[in-house]
Amino acid sequence: MSTGPTGEIYRVDWLPGTDVLHGTCHCGAEHTTQDPVEMWEWMLGHPEGHRPRGNGS
Ligand SMILES: [Zn+2]
Repeated sequence: MSTGPTGEIYRVDWLPGTDVLHGTCHCGAEHTTQDPVEMWEWMLGHPEGHRPRGNGS
């Protein structure tokens, strides 16, 4: 678990045996990418591109 510049809580896991990063935003949205920069851009871009689970549609 880590804390972003705004104090929000993010989590990034490295999937074992792969080059894939799996990130979870403080809002509950999840994102996977092989590019750490893309992962940060996704997180910092909240709420754009974020689709939290269990929040309807
Ligand atoms: Zn989010």
